[in-house]
This record gives sequence, structure tokens and C-alpha cells, in this order.
Amino acid sequence: MIIDITCIIAFNITAFFFFAHIDFLETLIEFTQQYEDYEVDEFIPLFFTLSLSLAIFAERRRREAVSLKEKYLFASCHDHLTGLYNRLYLINTAETEIERHQRTGSLFSILLIDIDKFKKINDLYGHHIGDLVLQEFSLILQETIRKIDVAARWGGEEFIILCRDTDHTGAITLAQKIQTNLAEHTFTGNQSVTASIGIAAFEKNTSFSTLIEAADLRLYQAKAAGRNRIVAQSYNAS
Ligand code: GH3
Ligand code: MG
Ligand code: MG
Repeated sequence: MIIDITCIIAFNITAFFFFAHIDFLETLIEFTQQYEDYEVDEFIPLFFTLSLSLAIFAERRRREAVSLKEKYLFASCHDHLTGLYNRLYLINTAETEIERHQRTGSLFSILLIDIDKFKKINDLYGHHIGDLVLQEFSLILQETIRKIDVAARWGGEEFIILCRDTDHTGAITLAQKIQTNLAEHTFTGNQSVTASIGIAAFEKNTSFSTLIEAADLRLYQAKAAGRNRIVAQSYNAS
């Protein structure tokens, strides 16, 4: 902005001295005397119309830039297939939540959700139907969570929900709601889809990677226990 204003001022001062040097108006008058079809007063409105059209041109380019910026901003934090937030956005949100905790003591929980036997759906019905199932699944997540929660595609058929101001118990309630909504939905291809969920609640002095590790371990345990389950507390299988 400051650079632009400096350039405009410098350019116009230079132009002023250049026009003064070549006696611009006198040259113009001489020109109109030479070519009698043109009068000076016909040139003056031209400066106004030219300025106006340049202003309209600049405004249209500015609007284009704003809409492009919005488009790229959206693409940089969303998953293309499902429309949910992407991994990077989720990590940034979690870091912000950890900072918020340090200031206000607020807590949050994460749900690591993995679709059960998803490979089978791809193998049976093809990748296209698999993609549709991922989209339907994401819609269910989106419709189940609260507005302040963040649902993201972690990768493949794995999703994370970050629940703000939510402890273990609240996270379990949400996980149960998700499983109920999944059970009630008939997915493309007339099939039922289940998911296993690992839960980890943020605790003081925990890093985000430790939180993910805990949720991942619990998800693994939910799978090992037979899938379509919620594990919120780590336990020893032995
Ligand atoms: P589990 O219950 O143990 O999680 O089994 P699974 O079959 O769900 O897990 P696995 O890791 O064996 O397979 C995941 C599959 O998800 C394999 C991969 O091709 C598929 N997948 C990952 N991303 C996409 C995608 O964007 N679209 C489609 N259609 N399939 C995907
Ligand atoms: Mg997986
Ligand atoms: Mg899976």
C-alpha cells in the first residue's frame, strides 16, 4: 500500500515535469490547429472517460483477486473430496486449542474415527462408490457435531473430530451419537457402514502428537476388539 502510494506520487510528479517540459497543452493546441477536425475541448472529456474506465477496470480486477483469494483460502484448509477440513487445518486448530488452554484452562477432546472394512466397499462396488460413501459418511459427521467442533479428514478413510470444551464423557456421548446415526443411515449401494472410534481427552502438558498417539492406540484397540466400537481409555489386552 505505502509502496503503491509512493510510486503513484513519484510517477505523477515525473509526468508533471515531463508535460511541463514538452509544453503539453501548447503541443495539443498546435495539433488541433493542424488537424481542424479535432478541438481541444474534445480531448478533455476523454481524460475523464479514460480515468473512469481505468477505475472500473481496476475495481473488476480487485474483485477477481478477492474471489481468487477466498477460493485458495478455502482449498488450503479443506479436503477436496469430502468438503471437511483437512489435516493441516486440524493440526493448526489443535495448536490454537492448546494455547487457549494455557490462557483459560479450557479442555478439549479428539475422536479418531476409522471406517470399518472400507477396502471391501471399494473392492465390491468400485472406487467411485467408495468416494460417495466417504462423502455420505462426512455429511453424517458434519450433521452430528456441534458448530464449535471441527471435523477433518485425517487421511484415506480416517477422520478426526476436535470437540472444544469437551471432556472424556462428552466425547463418548458424541461418539455414540455418530455410531447411532451411522447405523440409521443406508449408504449408497444399500449397505451399512460402521466405524471404530478412539478417544483422547486433552490433559495438562500434553502435546498434540501425544494426544493423537493415545487416540490411535485406542482406535487400534477398538479394531482388535471386533470393530464398530468406541475405546476411550487405554487398556492392556492381556
Ligand atoms: P479396517 O476395518 O481395519 O480399518 O479395514 P479397512 O479396509 O477400512 O482399512 P484398510 O487400511 O485395509 O483400507 C483402507 C482403504 O481405503 C484402502 C484405500 O484404497 C481406501 N481409500 C483411501 N482413500 C480413499 C479415497 O479417497 N477414495 C476411495 N474410494 N478409497 C480410499
Ligand atoms: Mg484406516
Ligand atoms: Mg478402515
